[in-house]
Amino acid sequence: METFNQNIFPKGEKAPSEYFSGGTAWVKILKPNEDELHCQIGNVIFEPKCRNNWHTHDGGQILIVTSGTGFYQEKGKPAQVLKEGDVVNILPNVIHWHGAGPESEFTHIAINPNTQNGVVNWLEPVTDEEYNNL
Ligand code: MN
Repeated sequence: METFNQNIFPKGEKAPSEYFSGGTAWVKILKPNEDELHCQIGNVIFEPKCRNNWHTHDGGQILIVTSGTGFYQEKGKPAQVLKEGDVVNILPNVIHWHGAGPESEFTHIAINPNTQNGVVNWLEPVTDEEYNNL
């Protein structure tokens, strides 16, 4: 596996710890939500075991995995393993989380369209019991 092209964007800022657990995540905004495109794009790096809380997006979300191994899970469904090159299409108001696997850093680009409807609604953390029983 090539490793020299993993970090093509700056690491960015620490993600707010109240919405992430198990480790630290870093967010670099690539395209601010500032104009009539109504779209925000960010690069997110998760340390191993780090995942975001359960949440929804009013306008939906598209994830493009660029490195590492991670998970995506919708409420009531099995978690999916994600690897670089995977694309996840998340429809509006679907409760879900995403994050790193237990032994791998994980990076994705997050595209948030339709931001005129809202961006994210945070819910409860993914517990260690939920995460460790995937
Ligand atoms: Mn999401």
